[in-house]
Amino acid sequence: MSKKYVYLFSEGNANMRELLGGKGANLAEMTNIGLPVPQGFTITTEACTQYYEDGQKINDGIQAEIMEYITKLEGITGKEFGDLENPLLVSVRSGARASMPGMMDTILNLGLNEDVVDVLAKKSGNPRWAWDCYRRFIQMYSDVVMEVGKKYFEQLIDQMKEARGVTQDVELTADDLKELAGQFKAEYKSKIGADFPTDPKEQLMGAIKAVFRSWDNPRANVYRRDNDIPYSWGTAVNVQSMAFGNMGDDCGTGVAFTRNPATGEKKLFGEFLTNAQGEDVVAGIRTPMPISEMSEKFPEAFAQFEKVCKILEDHYHDMQDMEFTVENGKLYMLQTRNGKRTPAAALKIACDLVDEGMIDEKQAVAMIDPRTLDTLLHPQFDGEVLKKTPVIGSALAASPGAACGKVVFSAEDAKAWAERGEKVVLVRLETSPEDIEGMKAAQGILTVRGGMTSHAAVVARGMGKCCVSGCGAIKMDEENKQFELSGKTFHEGDWLSIDGSTGKIYDGAIPTVDASIGGEFGRVMGWADQYRRLKVRTNADTPHDAAQARKFGAEGIGLCRTEHMFFDADRIPAIRRMICSDTVEQREAALAVLEPMQQSDFEGIYEAMEGLPVTIRFLDPPLHEFVPTEEADIELLAKDMGKSVAEIKAIIAGLHEFNPMMGHRGCRLAVTYPEIAAMQTRAVIKAALNVQAKHPEWTMVPEIMIPLVGEVKELAYVKKVVVETADAIIKEAGSNMKYLVGTMIEIPRAALTADEIAKQADFFSFGTNDLTQMTFGFSRDDAGKFLDAYYDKKIYENDPFAKLDQTGVGKLVDMACKMGRATNPELHLGVCGEHGGDPSSVEFFHRTGLDYVSCSPFRVPIARLAAAQAAIKDEK
Ligand code: PEP
Ligand code: MG
Repeated sequence: MSKKYVYLFSEGNANMRELLGGKGANLAEMTNIGLPVPQGFTITTEACTQYYEDGQKINDGIQAEIMEYITKLEGITGKEFGDLENPLLVSVRSGARASMPGMMDTILNLGLNEDVVDVLAKKSGNPRWAWDCYRRFIQMYSDVVMEVGKKYFEQLIDQMKEARGVTQDVELTADDLKELAGQFKAEYKSKIGADFPTDPKEQLMGAIKAVFRSWDNPRANVYRRDNDIPYSWGTAVNVQSMAFGNMGDDCGTGVAFTRNPATGEKKLFGEFLTNAQGEDVVAGIRTPMPISEMSEKFPEAFAQFEKVCKILEDHYHDMQDMEFTVENGKLYMLQTRNGKRTPAAALKIACDLVDEGMIDEKQAVAMIDPRTLDTLLHPQFDGEVLKKTPVIGSALAASPGAACGKVVFSAEDAKAWAERGEKVVLVRLETSPEDIEGMKAAQGILTVRGGMTSHAAVVARGMGKCCVSGCGAIKMDEENKQFELSGKTFHEGDWLSIDGSTGKIYDGAIPTVDASIGGEFGRVMGWADQYRRLKVRTNADTPHDAAQARKFGAEGIGLCRTEHMFFDADRIPAIRRMICSDTVEQREAALAVLEPMQQSDFEGIYEAMEGLPVTIRFLDPPLHEFVPTEEADIELLAKDMGKSVAEIKAIIAGLHEFNPMMGHRGCRLAVTYPEIAAMQTRAVIKAALNVQAKHPEWTMVPEIMIPLVGEVKELAYVKKVVVETADAIIKEAGSNMKYLVGTMIEIPRAALTADEIAKQADFFSFGTNDLTQMTFGFSRDDAGKFLDAYYDKKIYENDPFAKLDQTGVGKLVDMACKMGRATNPELHLGVCGEHGGDPSSVEFFHRTGLDYVSCSPFRVPIARLAAAQAAIKDEK
């Protein structure tokens, strides 16, 4: 049998979202449970996909099927398309599998033409209504189907109101509206060069095509990327017979939520407008009344609506967002869906539904979008002010939260201004380790260069600090302390606001609201912990970050980047001395200074983690991040090392690498200078022994991780240094402490030879940042510059540095797990790239059988929830 592309509402049900879209499936479900739904049919998402496959055409077979269903709908309603006795009018609306509010298009009153409008005017005895419908239809059709801008029609309405001396649309008479309809059609003809279509069937095909086309409009594309909705899903189209809210004062239209979507309070919340059609409520031309007032104006319809609300909540076991119309006092339901809500409301509603016995704890865990937890943990902009503030730029949403402050251009200024009580936003071309204190002092960081895993992004996420990165539109003039964006020059001290959750940049100061976590957060997270299999660790480099992560529920540290421990101004010289040493003696002297610093940091971290596992990664400094570039720093280093500036410059020149990310970093450093690995081993083991002595109740098993291994012999070489050093210290201490030596899998060759590598490793931790960089072959710092073009061309739908590419990089991960476990059944598996905190990637890691994910402290709750959801989904 050939594929069925069209379903009557009475043929579908709520489980058919994939095919019918959310709106279509719910209209079908409401029909099935006997609610008052104007009847219609749904054209499937597969028809949309087919439309694109056919080169943006609705093929003859599908067109014929749609016409067949129009005939069926005519049979059901007793009305006919274009009929002069009893004409059928329909709405045409989009409806994707996941709701995308306001992202796609809607057309109402389709089926009208000059003849039909006359019939309606006469039959209803309400010519004003008939002409109002017609002018709305011309306006919407022109805008949505033919893409003639709305503004031309709005101008005509304004002119008409002015000419009649009225301020409200509803004050225009039938004749005014008739005249307007004529003007609209003339406008249409002047813009399109053809007459406005009169044949309802032609109108219908045009409208359906427009809805399919709207799946690919720019705002829908951005929304999909932000919300993990694949392009391949397509949208369904719902064709529904019209119910009229604009027929007179016993009519109206409204939108309502069964609970308050901002707070979660269990109370009907919404708005209603008398004598109006759907878009009037949203458009804000007239001020709607609160839903509670509807009970006075329409007592019967309101009582019925309240009943429907209860039925729908009981049916869907969730808060509903509904659209409805009252036509001559009678209620019609046009839509219901699980309502969008703030993160705080989501938690309250989930807990309330459990307490009311509507859902169980597992369902509560499954209904919360983990990505939204971010907003509970970081400050946010005041929503009202935000709405009124123009966006002047946008870039990567690198680290969530909102920041508002005065622009400064250097880390020193950020620190100095913050010390005198100013709020600052640090704007840099890119950040380097020297900026760390400035980053700490700033409210937020904005960079011109850099991707999702660039230095600024990784460090900011670690600190829980707002960061927008890679804003190539900024013309930076650091020297003169100014930059240009969106035609405006910003000077030091000007106010700027940035949103690290959306990547948007705003001119001026937008007040922020602090994060607040209520009791429901803990309750839901507690439930989540019962269901997940994956452990959740954190990436933390300092005792402070480790303690923060513990509060968020981290069960260990999956990645401590030891080079990050030298970011502070008083420490960076020590690591620079080590990097710029040109003899073993000099290097050992520099290492001797580093060792106690590392040891005490490790002790602090062990203490903060209270005996939980801690993976310490050996030095992996991309050299370009660490060698000094400023003249003053070079002079300082020269003095410090007893060398001339020229000598230091020569060393730096010698260290220059064309591609530092692929350069002398990771275990290559330890292969060249084994004394570095020996020093770090001493620091790790001595710290663990000291902490073990202080806390005999803990079982300290330090985990040493060797980065950037691509060949088993590299690992074997460094491991030998580690084992010899560690065993000697442990023996000398008279201890029997165990320790683990593992490696990161972050080079494709390591994944491809994982069976060999696993023989030398106690654990693998997938470094998916580098693994993505090297599998795709594009730089994690530079990809932001060209990824937009890839999104536009639908080559990639997401930033692979933020969301794991399961097809390619994921295949390497999966393969390495299987090969590794085959030769080493005890192999412990985790991931510590940034993907460890991304919900869809966490689901993949769960399915792949990893033991844990590790992510920045503020993402720990997200990972806990995502891991629980993955496990719950797996059970089904
Ligand atoms: C990685 O490459 O995924 C990783 C965690 O290491 P880094 O980001 O420090 O290179
Ligand atoms: Mg790496």
